[in-house]
Parts: sequence; structure tokens; C-alpha cells
Amino acid sequence: MALPLRARGLLANAPLLYQQALGGAGISNTAFLCPAGALYSSVPVRSACSKPPTAGLKAFPFPGSVPAPCRVQSLFHSSHCSPSAFSQTTILSRIASFFSPHCPLPRVYHTSPAMHKPVPDSHSSDGHLPRYFDYLVVGGGSGGLASARRAAELGARTAVVESSKLGGTCVNVGCVPKKIMWNAAIHSEYIHDHEDYGFETSAIKFTWKVIKEKRDAYVSRLNDIYQNNLQKAQIEIIRGQANFTSDSEPTVEVNGQKYIAPHILIATGGKPSMPSDAEVPGASLGITSDGFFQLTDLPRRSVVVGAGYIAIEIVGILSALGSKASLLIRQDKVLRTFDSMISSNCTEELENAGVEVWKYAQVKSVKKSATGLEINVQCSMPGRKPTVRTIQDVDCLLWAIGRDPNTEDLGLENLGLELDEKGHIVVDEFQNTSRKGVYAVGDVCGRALLTPVAIAAGRKLSHRLFEGQEDSKLDYDNIPTVVFSHPPIGTVGLTEEEAVTAKGRENVKVYTTSFSPMYHAVTRRKTKCVMKLVCVGKEEKVVGLHMQGLGCDEMLQGFSVAIKMGATKKDFDNTVAIHPTSSEELVTLR
Ligand SMILES: Cc1cc2nc3c(=O)[nH]c(=O)nc-3n(C[C@H](O)[C@H](O)[C@H](O)COP(=O)(O)OP(=O)(O)OC[C@H]3O[C@@H](n4cnc5c(N)ncnc54)[C@H](O)[C@@H]3O)c2cc1C
Repeated sequence: MALPLRARGLLANAPLLYQQALGGAGISNTAFLCPAGALYSSVPVRSACSKPPTAGLKAFPFPGSVPAPCRVQSLFHSSHCSPSAFSQTTILSRIASFFSPHCPLPRVYHTSPAMHKPVPDSHSSDGHLPRYFDYLVVGGGSGGLASARRAAELGARTAVVESSKLGGTCVNVGCVPKKIMWNAAIHSEYIHDHEDYGFETSAIKFTWKVIKEKRDAYVSRLNDIYQNNLQKAQIEIIRGQANFTSDSEPTVEVNGQKYIAPHILIATGGKPSMPSDAEVPGASLGITSDGFFQLTDLPRRSVVVGAGYIAIEIVGILSALGSKASLLIRQDKVLRTFDSMISSNCTEELENAGVEVWKYAQVKSVKKSATGLEINVQCSMPGRKPTVRTIQDVDCLLWAIGRDPNTEDLGLENLGLELDEKGHIVVDEFQNTSRKGVYAVGDVCGRALLTPVAIAAGRKLSHRLFEGQEDSKLDYDNIPTVVFSHPPIGTVGLTEEEAVTAKGRENVKVYTTSFSPMYHAVTRRKTKCVMKLVCVGKEEKVVGLHMQGLGCDEMLQGFSVAIKMGATKKDFDNTVAIHPTSSEELVTLR
């Protein structure tokens, strides 16, 4: 059935794929009226193409303003002209959305003689017609925002769904406010050394509220900057909780409005784990790292539970700022997945700094008393009878026992996505989930839970989807990471234990050093610096570098480049040292 509408000769020029997609979906009498004057119309096309039609698309002339080729491509990218791939509504919505940047407020009309009713366009908010984007990103945190912005730069019509504050964990309750608190804690540590350096420091007072207000104001500024950046990039911000519906093609619903896209990214991050009151009676009297950033005063007496990096960083901050702090760990060392040298040294440094480390300890119950919380702790030293002791008068119990992915309440069951046993989304090396056209990056995938990892994976994905870089993917090897402990830890590559397992003891050579940094030459307070290079093979390729000491946080990035490039011990040795620094030790190890 041909169209009886004024087609102004455009029919002949209508994009082949557009015709095919409409025809494939059984839409024969349809016209798209653009207020700018152009009329687009469809013709019935019987044959569904058998292979992805993207190649022919770029060359196809569009009348009026010429859309970016990638937009044209992604418009029908995942339909592949299969009649069953999309419903009529979906295709209409897609086309309406597609034209909207070129002609504001397009309207889509069915032109069957029997039905002259307008179909709601892509701007409808009554939920009848899904809105279409080239790229729909669920989660406006590190990974989601980075991927969305790169996609928009590459011409994709992009939207970000965010249920809370833009910037995600890193900006609001992670790296950024944490680093500010660590900086405050460093001031406090250095105050102890001032006298040794000749300064009088009798009347120094710390007020938590001051740094909290400044920190919160900085975070708010960042939230605004993120919003402005999205607006500048013409990325639509959809505020609300995203949910996948049970529609046949992946569809996201937010506040009753449906959204579809050929490419949907899930970057919903994670949240702190907490035991239930059934597991540990009274557990909910404690807080998590999220709550740490809401504290309005420095706790007098704090107890942190956990041995991972978040526990170490928070207990270090609390202790350095003057809280009497205890750390409860299940084994005898913290950071047990790190190189054994780091794990042992960090445990010692915590104890040296005055943190009371309770080993082989587990919280059995928590009670409220008139003077604070009472925490019953069972200590089960190997070979000894378990003992139960009580920590009294605690005004801050903080659980830092891991993080859970934000995959509940997302409607992922409707997509049938593969999840691992902890609920992380399973992805391949290209961030593809088990559902075509749906991807995941960042903490929600449970691998290398770090901001730069989420960002890099998100950007690489956008280059693959919207720039045709087919091999674009993140290499997860040799990811450097810093723990903002006291002193800080820097680590990249294989631990000694991992290298031995992978290559055999006979092929692994390690170089270590332990010294007191020159900063402490005149101070009574001391911290150690420990360093280890893990080398493999005859050529002694450096496959791991682990260190803890003053300045190690800032030392690591440059060395990581060398290691990523495949540097050998000889390359390190051939590099002239910088004196006097701690980092010179790394190029003079013997
Ligand atoms: C205390 C702490 C300190 C940290 N320190 C560091 C550090 O020093 N360096 C470092 O590299 N990393 C650090 N991290 C880790 C880092 O914050 C994360 O790895 C990073 O934020 C992960 O980014 P993401 O995009 O995967 O998720 P997130 O940044 O968590 O973003 C996910 C976003 O999705 C939103 N969302 C979730 N569900 C929905 C939904 N259904 N609908 C709409 N929106 C939704 C959330 O509101 C959130 O904004 C720290 C984390 C914590 C907790």
C-alpha cells in the first residue's frame, strides 16, 4: 500500500533502512511530519534484510538537516530489519525521537484511512510511547558519566538516569570526601612533628564541623559541575530510579515513563554491606562508610569492623584526628589480598599509630546503653578457647565489611541477565552482558572496584559502540592502586605470592627494602617505608611493585607506566636516582 500523502518527492530519497524497518514491523501507512516542513513517509517493504544493514546507511541521503552518520546507524542498529525485533510503537517512537533534534516537537501520525489519530511522540510523558535514545546510561557515577559524555562527544543521543546525586560513590561518599578527611588527618599527624622541627604548637584545636562543612560544600560544587557538563554535552538527565520492564526488548522505566535504546549501559555501582540484626543482634545501631560522611562530630570512641582498604582508611582518619579507635579483624592481618609485606607492615603501622587492633575478632552483639554502645566481641585465637569481651561507651560503630552491587530492585530478572553468586553482573572483556545491547561497567561488575577503572571501561565501551573501534576494551592488568593509610600504600601488578603461583618459585626474584624516610631524621614519631619489586624470568621483568611509606601514594603512577610498558629490573637500575627522596630506593634496589 503506497502512501497517499504529500511526499514532496522525498519518498524516493527515504532511507532504505528506514523503509525496511517500518515495513518489517508491518507499518505501511506512516508519515512523519516535521514542523520544519519536511514530510517523511514510509512505504511497505516486504523483504527483511538478512544481514546487518549498517554499511549501506552512511551513504544514504537524508533530506533537510543531515544527521550524523552514527545517529543514523544506531537508529536501527539492533533491529537489523528483523520484523520481529521491534514493535510498531517502538519503531515509531524511535523515529520520532530521532528526528527531534532536527525538528523540534515532531509529531508522528498513522495515516491509515481508518485511523487519523496522532500517536504520542517521543516527548510524551504519559508512558504510552517509550522515548528513544541512542545510548541510555543507568547510573550517573564514575563509569556512567564518563561513558555517557564520551558517547555524546561521538554523536550519540544520550541520556543518563540517576536516582541520587550526580557523581556517584566517588564524589559523594567515596574517594573525594575520603581524601579530604585523609588530608585533615595528615595535618594532625604532622602537628606531632612540629615541635621536632622547631615550631611551637601549644594551642592547636581541631573542629570536625569546619572540615565537614567545607568538604560538603566542595562536593556540592562538584555535583553542580557534573550537571553543567552533562547539559553542555546535551545529555539528558533523567532523575529517578531506573527499572527494567518485562517488554520484549530491553526497556527502562523511570517514574512511569519508558525509555528504549539500542545500547543500554548499567553502571549502578554498589553499596556498603552490613550484617542484618538477625545475624548480629543490634548490628543496625552501627553505620557504614556512607554514614561516616554524615558524622557531625569526631567520635570520642570508635570501633571499625573490617580489614579491607575502606576499613583501614577510615580507622586511620578517626585515630589520627583524635578518636580512640579500635579495628576488629577476623584474622591476624589487614589487607590480606595484598602482598604479604604490605599486609604485615600495614597491621604494624596501625598499631604503632595507636589503633587497637583486635585480631581473630567477631562482633557477637551490640546494645545501646546510657553512655553509648556496648559491643560484645568474640576473639577466637587459633589453638585457644574463644573469649568474649565487651567494648563499652562506643559512640561510633562502623561496618566496613565489603560492598554489595546495586543489582537488586533494578528489574534485572526481566532482562534475564547473568549474575554471579554475589549479584554482580557478569560481563565479558568488552563489558557485554549476557543480553545483546546491554552492557555493564564499574563496581556493579565486581572487578577492580576503583573510580579510574569504571571511567576507563566506560570510555572504551563508548569508543567501541559509537566510533566503530571494534577492539576497544579495558586491559585490567597492572591497575595501580593506592590505600590512603598512614603512611599510604601504593601497589601495582602481581603480589609475590601470585607471581610464584603463576610462574613457579624458581622464576621469581624479589627485591625488598625497609628504611626510615629522611623526614623522620629529626622526629620522635617514626613510620617505616617498605618496598618490594617482584620480577620474573631471566630478563627480570618487573611484574609487581608494592610499597608503604610517606609519599608512596604520589610515587606510584609514574612507576606504573614503566611496568605497564614491560620494564625490567635493568631498566629500573639504568634510571638515575633522584636524591634525596624515598623513590630513589626503587631504582637502587639490590
Ligand atoms: C569510602 C570509599 C572510598 C573510596 N575511595 C576510592 C579511592 O580513593 N580511589 C578509587 O579509585 N576508588 C575509591 N572508591 C571506589 C569508587 O568510589 C568506586 O569504584 C566508583 O565510584 C565506582 O563507580 P561506578 O560508576 O561503578 O558506580 P558509582 O559511582 O557508585 O555510581 C553508581 C550510580 O548509580 C546510581 N544508581 C544506582 N541504582 C540506580 C537505579 N536503579 N536507577 C538510577 N540510578 C541508580 C547511584 O545513585 C550512583 O550514583 C571508594 C569507595 C568508597 C565507598
